[in-house]
Amino acid sequence: MKRTLIFILALLLIVTSAFSWSGHSAYTYYLIQELPVKDKLVSITEYSYKEDREYNLEYLILEDVAGKRKFIDVPYGMDIPPDPPPVNNQLPVWQILSIYAPEPDFGMDEGLKLHPLQGLIGNSQGVRHMRYKIGVLKAFEADKSFLYFADLSKQAFENGDEYWGYRFLARALHYIEDLSQPYHNSPGTFFEMIGAAFSKNKANKLNNAHYLMDDYLIYLLFYSDDASKEIIMGAQPIFFESYEDYVKEVMKYTLDKFPIIHKEIKNVFGEKLERPLTLVDIENADKTGKLAKIKAETLSILSYSSSVIKGFLLDFLTSVGEI
Ligand SMILES: [Zn+2]
Repeated sequence: MKRTLIFILALLLIVTSAFSWSGHSAYTYYLIQELPVKDKLVSITEYSYKEDREYNLEYLILEDVAGKRKFIDVPYGMDIPPDPPPVNNQLPVWQILSIYAPEPDFGMDEGLKLHPLQGLIGNSQGVRHMRYKIGVLKAFEADKSFLYFADLSKQAFENGDEYWGYRFLARALHYIEDLSQPYHNSPGTFFEMIGAAFSKNKANKLNNAHYLMDDYLIYLLFYSDDASKEIIMGAQPIFFESYEDYVKEVMKYTLDKFPIIHKEIKNVFGEKLERPLTLVDIENADKTGKLAKIKAETLSILSYSSSVIKGFLLDFLTSVGEI
């Protein structure tokens, strides 16, 4: 009970609203380059679903926004993924999946009452986009978010609604991709969390390490060499028994890498983690060769996660008759 209370207190200080593994649109775009149905054209349909899930209706968008670069989470001026307007009210599968994958980070999960600890942790987006496991303690539901949208997507395909089948599938991809960010699986070590509960400075350092890793994917995808793109595109699909097993695999692999990456981030950036770091800080560290280990471990996660997600997509799209 006491440990749980400390855990809750630590979460209170750690979770903030801006957490998001950036670059979902480009990550997804590279992931689906070999998908057999990627160029299939799908007619845009109206939303017509009764859902069990609550959203922030101020931000939930149900019309099609293709061609408007509405949810694309890549640096300004970058054209990956492309986002042309629909032609004859139709869109290719690759475009639906890549432009809607970032959507859940644009407000629909914010400001809700979702969790018994909601009053303490304050941020519902964190509840849906992360899944912490620290020792025996588990919290949050990114894995459930993935399964929820995989199920909704399946229902849409079964109703013959391919457009919403792929839009819901893009959201499912968002949450499983979030779980390939080490800090979406754990905020720090157990003792660091206790420290963070009593020290704003320590809490800030953990927050900034998380933000740094969010930005690191953008750095790898857009400002580094082609390694991340090649690794995502080259990953071979692997298959599991159930959709639950796919998301568990991503969580397990990423969580296993967490201690190495977290330790290395502290080694490289040290006291600099007291303030938010920028892409320039990442670039400077990279230029001096200090990020070699973080890069190798992150690429390893991207490779494995891409294999799992590709396996899931093939498995899923076969089961709904798209492949
Ligand atoms: Zn997210």
